[in-house]
Amino acid sequence: MVITSPVVREKPQPSLYDVAVEQFNIAADVIGLDDDLRRILSTCKRELIVHFPVEMDDGSVQVFTGFRVQHNLAAGPSKGGIRYHPDVTLDEVKALAMWMTWKCAVMGLPYGGAKGGVQVDPKQLSQNELQNLTRRYATEISLVIGPHTDIPAPDVNTNPQVMAWILDTYSMHRGGVAIPGVVTGKPLLLGGSAGRLEATGRGCVFAVEEAARAYGIELAGARVVVQGFGNAGSVAARLLHELGCLVIGVSDSQGGIWNPRGLDIPAVIQHKRQTGTVINFPNAENVSNAELLELDCDILIPAALEGQITRENAPRIKARLIAEAANGPTTPEADRILFDRGIIVLPDIYANAGGVTVSYFEWVQSLQHFYWTEREINSRLKEIMARSFHAIREVAERYRVHMRTAALALAIQRVAEITRLRGIYP
Ligand code: NAD
Repeated sequence: MVITSPVVREKPQPSLYDVAVEQFNIAADVIGLDDDLRRILSTCKRELIVHFPVEMDDGSVQVFTGFRVQHNLAAGPSKGGIRYHPDVTLDEVKALAMWMTWKCAVMGLPYGGAKGGVQVDPKQLSQNELQNLTRRYATEISLVIGPHTDIPAPDVNTNPQVMAWILDTYSMHRGGVAIPGVVTGKPLLLGGSAGRLEATGRGCVFAVEEAARAYGIELAGARVVVQGFGNAGSVAARLLHELGCLVIGVSDSQGGIWNPRGLDIPAVIQHKRQTGTVINFPNAENVSNAELLELDCDILIPAALEGQITRENAPRIKARLIAEAANGPTTPEADRILFDRGIIVLPDIYANAGGVTVSYFEWVQSLQHFYWTEREINSRLKEIMARSFHAIREVAERYRVHMRTAALALAIQRVAEITRLRGIYP
């Protein structure tokens, strides 16, 4: 007799774009959006897929796949980062582009949303190969990008140098004079903005400060956990440390560290710089990323990748406040669990919008060739983060919904209104 094990049918995981559309529909229900606008706003306007060859250092040629998706252009040029990751898919880029539309709208920026990506592990490439890949990808997507149409920025595994290569490639196709408005997050010498590198982490901390004031959380001595110690996470951890919070846990892709008495964050940054990771930091215990998320703390900042807080771990999350520095770190099922448990979630489209807001400042400066001081940048960012927090909270209270749905409802309402005003062409 042959004994076969029972077939376990797992519920298929929703794709990231499914999650984005589900969140959209929940918010659209709240504001009673009509079906026509629902169809328009839940669809990406342009999806460009490019396959392109790159000559490697050993003389061989590899073909890479990249994407640039523009979700919406109603309010102005589209804006969104470019990520280099082996697992990037069109579905993921579509979701991220849609979130960019809502992110820009919730902050009141005159932009639509876009996103790009290349299926590549940049750590496997030499600098020369990375440059060749970037220049060829930039050429392929130059059909749709431009300072008045679609403006890329850095995202996971891309940085100011990558933006400089995109700027140069785009400019060389037009005679060579630098066209700084085509990208943001570029080096300062090429027209980058003071404060841009730190803007996502800083904006997230401004959001935490607003929420702490509104919900009566004392920041001095508050215990903070940060998942992901890259651009967004390390800056948020450092600024919260400077504000007197106890940052008790941080992690990166190799794992996390924990000290209930608080970590010396500048020393952790130094340790990461020297060893390439936060783990094995002296005076701290190594923990897994799964354990890190469930540590006893007041404030949790997911600042790594999407899909980290799920229906499995949401019941065990102990934080009172979650500020999503990462894009899409919480699944819709986890959202419901956190809401029922009274945990406040500052949603990604608001909590990490500091990056795109300072990108907007950078773009304005690039177009005008007139540059602001870091103090001006930070104070304007603080003002916009505060204004948006109160606008979202007002919608949350009016409709009795959580902050994610409120932020989406506010954003969708704004883009719907612009779409109505512009009308359907022809
Ligand atoms: P980054 O590449 O600088 O840092 C990512 C960090 O996450 C690294 O420390 C990496 O080791 C860590 N990480 C990767 N996988 C992990 C895992 N499974 N568990 C724990 N840590 C892990 O990227 P970033 O720019 O800081 O972006 C992080 C998140 O913030 C992304 O979701 C990104 O979309 C979002 N974001 C970034 C910006 C920005 O301006 N940089 C703006 C808006 C949103």
